[in-house]
Formats: sequence, structure tokens, C-alpha cells
Amino acid sequence: PLAGRVAVITGSTSGIGLGIAHALAEAGADLVINGLGDRDAIDATCTALAAHSGRVAYDGANLLDAAGAAGLIDNSIAQFGHVDILVNNAGIQHVAPIEDFPVDKWNAIIALNLSAAFHTIRSAFAPMKASGYGRIINVASAHALVASPFKGAYVAAKHGVLGLTKTVALEGAPFGVTCNAICPGYVWTPLVENQIGDTAQARGIEREAVIRDVLLAAQPTKRFATVEELGALAVFLCGPGAASITGAALLVDGGWTAQ
Ligand code: NAD
Repeated sequence: PLAGRVAVITGSTSGIGLGIAHALAEAGADLVINGLGDRDAIDATCTALAAHSGRVAYDGANLLDAAGAAGLIDNSIAQFGHVDILVNNAGIQHVAPIEDFPVDKWNAIIALNLSAAFHTIRSAFAPMKASGYGRIINVASAHALVASPFKGAYVAAKHGVLGLTKTVALEGAPFGVTCNAICPGYVWTPLVENQIGDTAQARGIEREAVIRDVLLAAQPTKRFATVEELGALAVFLCGPGAASITGAALLVDGGWTAQ
């Protein structure tokens, strides 16, 4: 159903972005993969994604930098002629009490988790509107709607992403361009794995207790959401059945924020 569509997915060398990339590739889209990591591993990922029908390119732009984010879109358009689907997924986390929160971590989280989405959308928006079709998907979080202690920068950035999502939705609505936020609860990825140690330290509890009493305690389903579930939702949002879904926060949080 997405044959001929070009999808740029930020932070797609790992975790949720990679899961969304697989799902969009299965649906026939051409892909621009982005993210950090070992070049051999990234090449292997691109080869696996190219086993589907679409073309696959890799762009290692560093999205902490405004010019890097804008350049990712410009280079994708130069290579493929158009960008139809933009998934803003790249993100980082840092867990610390507010009075100890490192200023450089605050700046990096706001730059990557919030500002990079603005810069990519800013570059992709005019050509999308002109083409009459566009799908912008921002991977936000349940933390776009509720907070947790010790995640000040992340929660602030994700709430900001939701505000940006709604604004872009209104501006894109007359032109066939939708913009939505996918808001996962906890998904087992390197981002979550890496915060378990810091969370254990910040709360003074063991690793197993973090998984049971902090992470899965929030989710009535008592399981992590999967990258395949998020990929399926992204494909749906790109299809004709989702033409009227815009400006929405789509929760994939196992009931977390229903409580
Ligand atoms: P991950 O660490 O597995 O993947 C992050 C991706 O971002 C990687 O591809 C990484 O290379 C890329 N990245 C990091 N810094 C970058 C930079 N400067 N420039 C370009 N790319 C960069 O994490 P994930 O869990 O898959 O997270 C993906 C998104 O999902 C993030 O926005 C995160 O906030 C969000 N999210 C994750 C969860 C979860 O439980 N894992 C829950 C809610 C929301």
C-alpha cells in the first residue's frame, strides 16, 4: 500500500525507529534510515530492510544540530525526489533529580527530542503540502501526557512534541498532510535498558525492582509494548483509513495513562 512513498525515519538504527522502518518497508515504502551506531551493523540493517520491495538509503546526520536535521530532509529529497512520510523518532533519556540535572543533558534532550522534530518538519512541510499528501508521525511518549520524577528534560520535551504535533496538524489539514504523535508506554529497547541502572540509583532500589515496581507497575497489561505493535500503527497512520486522524496523541501504553 505504500509503494512509491518515501519515508524518512530518524533514529532508525535501533529500537522503535528500526521497528517502524521494518513495518514501512514491508508495506512497500522507500526508506531513508538515520541514526548513530557501528557502520557495519548499519549496513547489515540496510541490507535486511532492502529485502523488501523498496529502496533503502542511510544518512548519518547528527540531529543534535539544526543544520543536520534540515540537511537530512534536503538530502532525502535530492536523492529520492520527495519525502512523503516523516517519522521523528530519534530520542535520548537522562534520569536525575532536578537539582542535580546536568545542564548539558537538558540541552541535548531538548535539541534531539524536541527541536530536531521542528527542524525536519520545517524542511519537509512545504513540499508535502504542495504534493497533497503527507504523513508526519512524531514518536512522543506517555510522558507527553503525564510525568514521572527524575525525567524533567524528557517530560518537558515530549509535552512540547505534542504541542508541535497539534500545531502542525492544523497547518497541514487543508493540504492532505496529517501529523500525529504515537505515545508509547514502556517498550524494551536499548533506551530503556540504559536507564535502569540510573533509575535504580536515583530511587535506591535493585534492578529487578525497577522493572517490576517502576516500569511495569505503570502498565496494567504487565508487559512491554513491542516495536512491531508500533510499526503496525505507523503503517495504519500512513494509509487512507487514517486520513481524518490528525493532531492526535495515540497511546500505546498498556493502559498506563487510563489510571
Ligand atoms: P533507542 O536508543 O533504541 O534508539 C534511539 C535512536 O536514536 C537510535 O537509532 C540512535 O542512534 C538515534 N540517535 C541518538 N542520538 C542521535 C543523534 N544525535 N542524531 C541522530 N540519531 C540519534 O531508543 P528507543 O527506545 O527506540 O527510542 C526511540 C523513541 O521512542 C525516542 O524518541 C523515545 O523517547 C521514544 N520512546 C521510547 C520508549 C521506550 O520505552 N523505549 C517509550 C516511549 C517513547
